[in-house]
Amino acid sequence: MNVIARRESEVRSYCRTFPATFSKALGSKLWDGKGAEYLDFFSGAGSLNYGHNHPALKDALVSYISGNGIAHSLDMTTDAKCRLLEAFERIILEPRKMDYKVMFPGPTGTNSVESALKLARKVTGRSLVISFTNAFHGMTLGSLAVTGNEMKRNGAGVPLGHTFCAPFDGYFGEGVDTIAQIETMLSDGSSGLDAPAAFIVETVQAEGGINVASGSWLRELESLARKHKALLIVDDVQVGCGRTGLFFSFEEYGIQPDIICLSKSLSAFGLPLALTLFKPELDIWKPGEHNGTFRGNNHAFVTAAKALELFWSHDSLSRAVSLKAAIIEDRLRQCARRYGGEWRGRGMIQGLAFGDSSVAPAISAAAFSRGMLVETSGSQGEVLKLLPPLTIDESDLQRGLNTIDTCIDQVLSARKDSPRTTRTQEVMA
Ligand code: PMP
Repeated sequence: MNVIARRESEVRSYCRTFPATFSKALGSKLWDGKGAEYLDFFSGAGSLNYGHNHPALKDALVSYISGNGIAHSLDMTTDAKCRLLEAFERIILEPRKMDYKVMFPGPTGTNSVESALKLARKVTGRSLVISFTNAFHGMTLGSLAVTGNEMKRNGAGVPLGHTFCAPFDGYFGEGVDTIAQIETMLSDGSSGLDAPAAFIVETVQAEGGINVASGSWLRELESLARKHKALLIVDDVQVGCGRTGLFFSFEEYGIQPDIICLSKSLSAFGLPLALTLFKPELDIWKPGEHNGTFRGNNHAFVTAAKALELFWSHDSLSRAVSLKAAIIEDRLRQCARRYGGEWRGRGMIQGLAFGDSSVAPAISAAAFSRGMLVETSGSQGEVLKLLPPLTIDESDLQRGLNTIDTCIDQVLSARKDSPRTTRTQEVMA
């Protein structure tokens, strides 16, 4: 029995989906200790938008460490932090005419969500936060309370409250205006729904099954929030940092969230880093009212600042994302026509949803056995979720799409030939 099985908690999960011992990684590839190669269509669940060990980011980090640059600083001022904030202001905020204060909430996505929820409640004096069906916002108690998934919620062990879960765009099918439903409830003093402090939303529900909100739905949500004096929080932890093409996933829709949560690919190197952005008038924190030991991850500041210069001071990455997104969409739509399944996605987060929830996990397992990492999402894992690095080259992209095509064919043909094939048999195949 290896040390993982012997010693690591049963809570481990990705190592079960991708059972290899990885040693090295570069760009869109990983290798195990024996040199077997894996093509990465998973990107650290959205944390490696620019691939593994990008040489320019690695050089910046190595030279910072070699020069004895500060590693840990809580929220003391360091050169690395100033350089990151200056780059963020100059490259991200100013060109978009976005005036936001920047908070370091702790190093992970859930830290950013917790700080956003706290701030919204503090600013409005209201406790209720409205979240959406199939949302995923993190694993700590506040963010779990705005997460939909039953299994994850049950892990809390205490009641998760002060939240109301409203239907996301399309939840009741096409033609049902879910914003109108929420509006009816909020405008009716007898509906039992209290005035909310905030709405928290993902523009694309990544863990929840690649559910894409339309621009008009998001704009209506923004108006609804304004009308009811509630704040709009956009959780851009997974689909921000270019996943949908532009830096923020909402910017093409012209909405202006009050609070924005960012993490995952922000450090650009797989290092923990999160930011919470909010409009200046909301900055009513008292010094130290929200803190944490690891808010000064200077190594992440160095790689994040370098990545902003490299990828966001011009639009070539965004243009490349649109081109690659079109290639992915084209191939997945062909697969959907040929094999069944429903295409979903936006930018370079795309997938296929299958009616039988055992199909996508079987395809993921088949792809792994052919040297490729691709995960599933959705409440039952029913959606095959493609998340290649944004910087993947076209030949690797095509190769990955070919493998997926072959694996869908393999899994579905096996089922046709032997209707009683179990999921376990396919996973073992
Ligand atoms: N929000 C969203 C939209 C996420 O996808 C995730 C992570 N999958 C989180 C928050 C939580 O981030 P972390 O795992 O870093 O706490």
